[in-house]
Amino acid sequence: MGEKIPHWLDKQAETNPNKTAIRQSDGEIVTFKELRNESRQIAYGLRGLGVRKGTHIALLAENHKEVPAFIHASSYAGAVLVLLNTRLTPAELAFQLEDAEVQFLFTSNSLKGRGEEASQHLPIRQYSLEEIPRDAGESDVEEEFDLDDVYTMMYTSGTTGNPKAVMHTYGNHWHSAISSALNMGLHEEDQWLVCLPLFHVGGFSILMKSVVYGMTIEYMGTFDEKIIQEAIFERGITHVSVVTVMLRRLLDHLGEASYPEHFRCMLLGGGPVPKPLLERAAERRIPVFQTYGMTETSSQIATLDPSSALRKLGSAGRPLSTAQLLVDAEKEYEVGEILVRGPMVSKKYYNREASDEAFFRTGDLGYKDEEGFLYVVDRVKDVIISGGENVYPAEIESVLSSFPGVIEAGVTGIANEKWGEVPAAFLVLEEHTLWNQEEMERFLEDKLAKYKRPHVYHIVPELPRNASNKLVRRRLPSLVEEHKDEC
Ligand code: ATP
Ligand code: MG
Repeated sequence: MGEKIPHWLDKQAETNPNKTAIRQSDGEIVTFKELRNESRQIAYGLRGLGVRKGTHIALLAENHKEVPAFIHASSYAGAVLVLLNTRLTPAELAFQLEDAEVQFLFTSNSLKGRGEEASQHLPIRQYSLEEIPRDAGESDVEEEFDLDDVYTMMYTSGTTGNPKAVMHTYGNHWHSAISSALNMGLHEEDQWLVCLPLFHVGGFSILMKSVVYGMTIEYMGTFDEKIIQEAIFERGITHVSVVTVMLRRLLDHLGEASYPEHFRCMLLGGGPVPKPLLERAAERRIPVFQTYGMTETSSQIATLDPSSALRKLGSAGRPLSTAQLLVDAEKEYEVGEILVRGPMVSKKYYNREASDEAFFRTGDLGYKDEEGFLYVVDRVKDVIISGGENVYPAEIESVLSSFPGVIEAGVTGIANEKWGEVPAAFLVLEEHTLWNQEEMERFLEDKLAKYKRPHVYHIVPELPRNASNKLVRRRLPSLVEEHKDEC
C-alpha cells in the first residue's frame, strides 16, 4: 500500500469551484465544480453497469466533449482505464482489448461500429459514452487514491516492435504533473491547450496537470492551426504541447509574426526534432522547449528549462526534479543508451515480468554535455553500422529534410558487401519538385561525413507510419519491394 491522497478533482471543486476547468474551442465552458459533479454522475452510472474497483474498462474515442469527464469518472469508479488509439484497425484493437483483459468498452458514437467489430469475439460489454446512465442515483465512489494503485493502461506506439501495455499508477501521473510544474513554473493565469489526443500520454498528462494544479485547459477536437493561433492570440493560452509536424504547421501559419508576450511554452516532444525547425522557431522568438519522454515515463522525464532554451538548442534538457537520467557511456558527449528512474516511471507492463533493474532501459541513445544536458540521438534498434562506424538515421533525416523541396525523409540501413550496411534514403517531395540527386549530394558534402551519406535515394509518395504517426523505419525497405512487384 502506498500513500493516500484525496481525489484531485474533489480538491479542485473545493478550492477553485468556479474556475474554468475546461473550455472547448467552440467556447463552451465547464467549471471545476461542474466537472466534479458530472464526473461523479458518470461514475454512479458506471457502478450501476457493474464497474467495480479494479475493473478493466477501455475507452475508444477521439477528443470528444464527453471524454475528460469520463476519464475522471473512471477514477471515481476505481476502474483501470485502458486508452485506445482511434487510428488502430479493428484487428489491432482486438489484440489490445484481449491482451489488457478489458471487460467494458466505451466508445464515442462515431467509433461504435469499429468497437463492435473489434470486440465481437471477446467477452466484453460495449456502450457508447452517451449510453452511460446519468440518473443512476448516488453510490459509493472512490474519494481518495492510493498512489500505488493502477489508474491507466496505455499501449506504446509499436514503433520498434509490438506495442506493450504500460501500467500507470496515480502516483506516476501525480509526480509527472508536479515535476513538470517545478520545471516550467506555475502562474495563476496559465492555460494549456490540448491539441494532442487524450489517448496518448502527452495529451492525457495535460488533463492530469489541469486537475492537479487547478489550471484551465482549452480542449480541441482535432488539430487546427487556425484555431490554435486564435486561442493563443485571443484567449490567453500560455502553453501548447505539440509534436514536430504540428510545430511546422503552426510556424507556416504564423508567417513572419511572433506569439504575444503571455505565451510561455511550446512543449515539443514525441520524436526526433530537426534542428532547422528549432532554429526557425528561435528566429521568431517562440519559446519552444524540447522534451524527452515516453509512454513508460508518463510523458516528460527531461525538458529544457526556459533559461537554457536558446543556449542549448537541440537539447531535451535535464531530468525533471524528481527524476534521474543516466547515459550508459564513459564520458561526456559519448553516445550510450539512456536509462531513467523516478516516481513518474511505470514499474511494469501488463502481463509481463517486472524488471529488477533499478533504472529503466529506454532503448534510446543519447549523450550529455558538460552541464548534463541531454541530446537524444536515436533508437538503439535503428542504428546503422557502416564499416564499423555507428550511423544514426535521425541525424541524416534532419539534414535531408532541410533540402529545398523535401517534405520528409526516412533513412534505414541496407546490406552492402563492402561496408556491411549503408544508409538508404526515402524522400517525400513537394509536388512538382524535380529530383536532382547530384544537387543533393553537393548539399550534403559539408553537412555530413562521407560514411553517413545515403548510397541510394528513393522518391516515395509517403513514409510508413504507425497509428501514432511515427515513422517505422523497419518498414521502409518494403516501399521499394512493393514498387518492384508493380514493375
Ligand atoms: P515502442 O516502444 O512500442 O517501440 P514508441 O517508443 O514509439 O513505441 P512512445 O512511448 O509513444 O512509443 O514513444 C516514446 C519514444 O519517442 C521515445 O522512447 C523516443 O524514442 C521517442 N522520443 C520522445 N521524445 C523524443 C525526443 N525529444 N527526441 C527524440 N526522440 C524522442
Ligand atoms: Mg518505446
